[in-house]
This record gives sequence, C-alpha cells and structure tokens, in this order.
Amino acid sequence: MKKIAIIGAGISGISAAKLLAEDFDISVFEKESTIGGLIKCEDINGNLFHRVGGHVFNTKVKEVSEWFWKHFDKEKDFLQAKRNAKILLNNTLIDYPLENYLYQLDEKSFKKIMEELQELSKASGKKTYDNFEDFLKGSFGDKLYHLYFKPYNAKIWKTDLRNIPLEWLEGKLPMPDIEEILINNKMRKEEEEMVHATFYYPKKGGSQFIINTIAKGLKKIFTNTPIKSIQETTDGFILSGDRHFDKVVFTGDVRQLHSIYRGMGDDLTEALQSVKNLKSNGTSNIFCETDDNDISWLYLPDITKAHRIIYTGNFSSMNNQGSKRKTCVVEFSGKYSFEEMKEEIKMLPGNLTPLAYNYEPNSYVIHEKDTKEKINHLKNKLELKGFYLTGRFAEWEYYNMDKSIEASMNVRKKILKNS
Ligand SMILES: Cc1cc2nc3c(=O)[nH]c(=O)nc-3n(C[C@H](O)[C@H](O)[C@H](O)COP(=O)(O)OP(=O)(O)OC[C@H]3O[C@@H](n4cnc5c(N)ncnc54)[C@H](O)[C@@H]3O)c2cc1C
Repeated sequence: MKKIAIIGAGISGISAAKLLAEDFDISVFEKESTIGGLIKCEDINGNLFHRVGGHVFNTKVKEVSEWFWKHFDKEKDFLQAKRNAKILLNNTLIDYPLENYLYQLDEKSFKKIMEELQELSKASGKKTYDNFEDFLKGSFGDKLYHLYFKPYNAKIWKTDLRNIPLEWLEGKLPMPDIEEILINNKMRKEEEEMVHATFYYPKKGGSQFIINTIAKGLKKIFTNTPIKSIQETTDGFILSGDRHFDKVVFTGDVRQLHSIYRGMGDDLTEALQSVKNLKSNGTSNIFCETDDNDISWLYLPDITKAHRIIYTGNFSSMNNQGSKRKTCVVEFSGKYSFEEMKEEIKMLPGNLTPLAYNYEPNSYVIHEKDTKEKINHLKNKLELKGFYLTGRFAEWEYYNMDKSIEASMNVRKKILKNS
C-alpha cells in the first residue's frame, strides 16, 4: 500500500484520512495534544465549551450527508433543532435574517427601508458587484447597510469591506433577491432557506463527539507532532527529517508552507511566497453562564465589541451538566484578553457569568482581489508532485464543516485518479 501523510487533524484532515484509509496506508500528524482543530471542545467543570464558535452540522450536499451519517446513529446520537436566531438592534430583539423581518423595526425605519428596496427592485438587469460593500449596498440599500450590515460586518472582518472581492461569497451564502425580501416583509413569511435554518447537534460532547467518532478506526494518529519540515524527493516526501511518504495531504495554514516545504527541480519559491502574507482574523471566545432563553444565535451589530452570542447550552441540555444555569459562548473577532471580554459582557443581556475563555489566532480567512488565483496556482503546482492542499486554511476558503468534508472527498478522487 502506498503511504500517505495527512498534516492536521481537524475535520478536513480526519475526513481525508478516513476517506483514504481503505486504499492507502494513512498517518495523521497533529501538532496539538487533541484532534479537532477549530471544532475542539473542552469540559469546564461539567459544562461543554466550544473553544471556537458553537459548531452545528448541516449540509445540502448529498454525498457529504450520506458519508457523514454513516458514522452515526442519527436518532440516538443527535438532536435536530430549528434555528432561532435574533438580532439585538437598538435594544430590541429582531428575528434573523433582518431583511426578512424589517416589519419588526420601528415604523419609520421600516417605511424608509421598504421604499428604498422598492426603488432598487425597479432597476432592471442583473447586477454584478466587484466588492462586498457594493454588494451589500446594492442588495439591501444604503439605509439597511448603515443600520446593520456595515457595523456587523466591520466587527467581524475588521477590514475595509471594499477590499473584499465578491468571489469569496460564491456558493457560501444564499444570494438575496429584493423581490423576495419585499414579499417576505409584506406576507410576513418565515425564512427556511438560510444556512443552518435547521441543524443537527450531538446530544453529548458537541463537535468533539463528531470528530472523535469519525476518527474511530484510524490507527495512526500522532498528536503533539508538528510537521516542521517537508522535503520533496524523487519518489515522495520526507517529513520532519525521517519519515517517508508517497503523497501528502496538507490541511494546515498555507501561509506557513514557505518555511517548511523544500522542493527540488521545478521552483516553487515564488508560488509559496505569494501566499505567505494572506490576511486572517482570530476569534476570542468567552464561555459564560446565562439566564434562560430559547435563542440559538444572537447577533450584536451594536452595544459591544462582541459580535454574537451562541447559546450552546440550548443546543443540548447535556452541555450544562455542571451549572444550575444555561451556558453560552460570546464571540469577539480579534484578540481580546479575558479581562477585556469580562468588561464587555457586562453590557449584554442574560446576567452573564464568565467561566473560561480562549483565543484562536486562525478563524476567519480574508480574501483580497488575487487570493483565489494565488492559491489555485500553488495548489496546481503542488498537486503535480503528489502534495494536496485541502481545508479552510490550506485552501483559504470560507468552508463550513460540510464543505471541508466535500473538499476532502475531492482530494480523494484526485489521489485515486493519479495513483
Ligand atoms: C467562529 C466559527 C464558527 C463556525 N461554526 C460552524 C458551524 O456551526 N458549523 C460548521 O459546519 N462549520 C462552522 N465553522 C467552520 C468550521 O470550523 C471549519 O470548516 C472547519 O473546522 C475547518 O476544519 P479544517 O480541518 O479545515 O481546519 P482546522 O480545524 O484549522 O484544522 C487544521 C489542523 O491542522 C493542525 N496543523 C496545522 N499545521 C500543522 C503542522 N505543521 N503539523 C501538524 N498539525 C498541524 C492544526 O493544529 C489543526 O488541528 C465555524 C468556523 C468558525 C471560525
């Protein structure tokens, strides 16, 4: 059997390993002490802390759905929930997504925004946008942009929205339709099409349960094993100086490859250097106890530096075993200390009591005009050598878990074809 090394044991690496294990001798290398990457969870005195976000599962991709559910007993292991997301705007709770619930705004704002949307809907022809700001203004109008989309997105992306090209959105978010927004507001229709409108969540263990279960049966997972060097040879690769593999699947941070990858012959230096300064944002999360409510996600365009609260304690009662109250995660984009976050959450509803915190330096990839081109160029060059990039930070894609799995499926197909 040919030997394949998988670098990284997040959902991309573990899925790739599982998918390839039937045909190849697989070894997975993970620099941290636990598998999971972004979907790792931690037990805090009996409560489940999603160290980044609050991962729920959903997919519209049939192949991913079939493969994913093969690993679980859907009824026994998972709960299915309907999204109950709200926006806290000017101290009022409004249903999410805001554009469908404009009638919940005060009457004056509602009228003005509807008038603007009606004007926009009269403009004929399909519009194309160059950047994220133009897209938001053109799709929702100036008033809604300034009321909600601008402050909310500025908190998350921490960059000029005009510098974010539109291509990063393709296939990731449903494209808004002004006619539909107008009808939804006139008919007061509930939305069903949004990402995670309904979702699955493990009864116990959150997303750590997901990754641990998928990883079952993989015999060679080496944790605490950072791959610090990759030497290309005539018949494969040598990792960290002593382990030989025929092929490599890399799911780590593509920006770091220039310092660990040593090629031969065909020069990759330029392609590796071209991606070393891609921009990303980290996320700071503070895990809290909260008063009871029935919300799943609460979006926070104003009030504080935090941009949302994820009520993970509402996803499964097993997540609050150590507390009398429910638990939740308050999320900030960028680096904040525990002390700073403790101050900020005093402004939020729910009498939040902090329990723990985490800072994850890599969470949101930021696209600039030529990012996709640079990544594709590098990917193609590496694939010719038997080195595959897959995952959120290896491909610099705004993937959810299901898209990460789909990307690993595509890598498997390529490897089988090239073997
Ligand atoms: C705030 C937030 C909320 C989210 N919520 C959801 C959600 O609700 N549902 C959903 O489906 N998706 C969600 N996502 C997306 C989801 O987290 C990602 O799609 C997925 O976790 C990406 O997995 P990955 O394996 O590609 O990357 P990662 O999880 O980053 O895994 C990469 C792994 O590689 C390891 N590594 C890197 N370099 C090396 C090296 N040199 N040697 C050894 N190991 C290395 C890292 O330690 C890490 O474990 C969310 C993301 C964020 C940021």
